[in-house]
Amino acid sequence: MKVRVVFLVIFVGAALFAGGSACVNNNEPVIKEWTRIIDGKTVHFMTIDGIMVHETDQAKQPLPVVVTPGKEPGDAPSDAVVLFDGSSESFKNWTDTNGGQTKWILKDGAMEPTKKSGYIQTKQEFGSCQLHIEWATPEKVKGNGQGRGNSGVFFMGYEIQMLDSYENTTYADGQAGALYGRKKPLINACRKPGQWQSYDVIFHQPVFDADGNVLRKATFTVLHNGVLIQDHYVLSGGTGWRGPHSVTNYHPHADKLPLQIQDHGNPVKFRNVWIREL
Ligand code: MG
Repeated sequence: MKVRVVFLVIFVGAALFAGGSACVNNNEPVIKEWTRIIDGKTVHFMTIDGIMVHETDQAKQPLPVVVTPGKEPGDAPSDAVVLFDGSSESFKNWTDTNGGQTKWILKDGAMEPTKKSGYIQTKQEFGSCQLHIEWATPEKVKGNGQGRGNSGVFFMGYEIQMLDSYENTTYADGQAGALYGRKKPLINACRKPGQWQSYDVIFHQPVFDADGNVLRKATFTVLHNGVLIQDHYVLSGGTGWRGPHSVTNYHPHADKLPLQIQDHGNPVKFRNVWIREL
């Protein structure tokens, strides 16, 4: 009997310990509750992260910063970094992957790769962010599968696939909106070839410890043409090509890196790119 009790204590202790460590989450708010008798009535009080619910003292609970939204849906809000707005000035925000002048071209207010021009990347570096980007695959359809309107946007090296996935079948985790090789999109919201499409992305970067272990994995929420296609998805590793049936693992990297767009040999064009650091 005594042995059983000892085992039970160890088991419950271990379960509590495991549960406690599993609950470690940076986004988990700390909630405290208590009651007080006011004018003979019981009043419930609650603080969330040390701030009283419905606190009106702005010294204790500052109001959110006012941001002016863009005029039309998709337009940059007042606090965004405009990475590309069709102007030659904003095109200067981009370089090749060595920081040199890109061979991409500016044409009719859009930027697009030229033959063997390679990836394009921002001069400024980013970590967790909200991104808006518009892209269009060639109106004249050429090729199929992965060879049709292929590009991609890379957040610290993690790719959201761009592809002409309008009546164009390929492996699900490589079609438009896929986290390449890791997660297919929830649905296929692709517009017809040649039409402008948008991605709105909320990306939270992975966190590594000093030894390069992943402390917190990256997450992606993605809207494709306004439709949810990735729902706060926890990325299990890298998205780099490692062969026909395998992608790269996590490798520790800097806290901020350039945003990149892929040149996959297809003339995909881009416009209206803006970002907000989170
Ligand atoms: Mg791609």
